[in-house]
Amino acid sequence: MIIAIDGPAASGKSTVAKAVARRLGMHYLDTGAMYRAVAWLALERGVPADDAGQLAALAFAHPVTFAYEDASTLPTGVYIADRDVTVAIRQPEVDAAVSAVASVPEVRAAMVSQQRRLAGEDDTVVEGRDIGTVVFPDAELKVFLTASADERARRRRIDLVGAGHDVETNEVRERLERRDYADSTREASPLDIAEDAQRLDTTGLPVEEVVERIAILAGERR
Ligand code: C5P
Repeated sequence: MIIAIDGPAASGKSTVAKAVARRLGMHYLDTGAMYRAVAWLALERGVPADDAGQLAALAFAHPVTFAYEDASTLPTGVYIADRDVTVAIRQPEVDAAVSAVASVPEVRAAMVSQQRRLAGEDDTVVEGRDIGTVVFPDAELKVFLTASADERARRRRIDLVGAGHDVETNEVRERLERRDYADSTREASPLDIAEDAQRLDTTGLPVEEVVERIAILAGERR
């Protein structure tokens, strides 16, 4: 079974998708981490964000891999080109570069084939922007998470401050809106809600409540 969880930046996808995976004993795939890893590698190698040819070459040459501790179904590490980028891909520099990298159709083609391979064999909760529309259009359950811009900025700021980045909520909100605009208006597989997706606004909802609703929907489709 595939559960697709899509939505804009900081809508709660990661927290919810991991909790759903844990609760239902499913694997978890963070496709945003994969685009972030390629964006990190491009920054590291000095590849400009508008050089589609070089970005595509990087994406095809360096598959993203995930590390698991013990028998855990949730990955604990993200790797590209033999480097552990688990922490580095969450830096503001990567936030700023990733949408441009993710807008290159060949980069997306490389990522989508890896994603289908990674999630295709086991029951997996897959989170991203185009999972229900493009990567797994036949997913048994599709959820589109939203939350108000204020709530999303507040949540992302807590993450950033926790990681040692001192930023104002207004600035975080502006950056999120810029990234959502880029992700929603690009030509290749833009952020969009699938026709058969369940829309869930998480503003003011406790995580447990969101997870409960998704678990019920998943139970109905098993
Ligand atoms: O989910 P996260 O915010 O980590 O994703 C980072 C970026 O990766 C997004 O802003 C988007 O540009 C890109 N992305 C994408 N398609 C996906 C997942 C992420 O284009 N399925």
